[in-house]
Amino acid sequence: MKAVVTGGAGFIGSHLCDHLVARGYEVTVLDDLSTGSADNLAQAEGSPGFRFVRGDVLDRDLVDDLVAEADTVFHLAAAVGVYNIVDNPLRSLRVNLHGTENVVESAVAHRVPYMIASTSEVYGKNDADGLKEDDDRIYGSATKSRWSYAAAKGLDELVAYVHGSESGVPCVIARLFNVVGPRQTGRYGMVVPRFVDQAMSGEPITVYGTGTQRRCFGSVFDVVPGLLGLMETPEAFNRAVNLGGHEEISIKGLADRVVELTGSSSAITYIDYEKAYGDGYEDMQRRYPDTSLAGRLIGYRPERDLNDIIR
Ligand code: NAD
Repeated sequence: MKAVVTGGAGFIGSHLCDHLVARGYEVTVLDDLSTGSADNLAQAEGSPGFRFVRGDVLDRDLVDDLVAEADTVFHLAAAVGVYNIVDNPLRSLRVNLHGTENVVESAVAHRVPYMIASTSEVYGKNDADGLKEDDDRIYGSATKSRWSYAAAKGLDELVAYVHGSESGVPCVIARLFNVVGPRQTGRYGMVVPRFVDQAMSGEPITVYGTGTQRRCFGSVFDVVPGLLGLMETPEAFNRAVNLGGHEEISIKGLADRVVELTGSSSAITYIDYEKAYGDGYEDMQRRYPDTSLAGRLIGYRPERDLNDIIR
């Protein structure tokens, strides 16, 4: 089987490449290295049929050439990270809308099954106890989304869904919730690697807001097999499926946990959201996934706890 992984030099994409080559896939990565790194591909490189193509998902001809040769496409290339998106809202929109459009249209034209990486951000500010895929408030809340990112990803889901249902080409929409693990960078604001970097270098750990906001972190080592599992399961086609972790914690609790596990002497400090992200920034108090649909479809049960993830 030949797989194309867009964004394959990124954090989740590179782990997906490792997983795919271990399962005998010939993998082609398309990545512009804007936030990813060729170093992330060290493990996959050298595997039979592995290829790295440096290029842009906005390049429709390039996307089309690569997809035409593939048996399956995983589309993870996107402008991500709060700092990156807040600084470049239009570039983010373009990549996240038209990049997905290019990949989905090519996949449908060549009748190649495709997966797109969506996000819990499409749920907007919703602190329900377990966000479910059929929540009525979805998309409606995308109009109040904090950044271009959530709105574009919501539209990506519609593009993927409408093309998939009209063409009959298998399509999976994976809604990812706060995925964490090795190779994730704290550069663009991701909280776990940022706190760990700060703790390891003895700098103050900077909590944005009061730290009472709660999140649930999932390990990349649980999520990546879930992505492939969904692509191999016809009941998962043409619907959105949540993938994430199971252990909820406040951001202040996360900072304490990082200090404890790293043995750091870093102090914990607090910064107003607006100072960190600019005027008008709002965060949701809670984001917690209901992953029971993935459980029923593919037996998804996240195994790694937060301590494993931080270590
Ligand atoms: P990442 O930044 O490590 O990966 C994104 C990759 O896409 C990078 O390698 C980057 O260089 C590449 N890329 C960006 N623009 C591109 C373009 N125009 N052409 C080609 N390549 C381009 O981020 P990640 O956390 O691994 O995210 C992967 C996917 O998962 C993204 O689609 C993201 O929206 C989604 N996601 C991630 C999380 C998470 O918690 N990490 C949560 C929800 C959704």
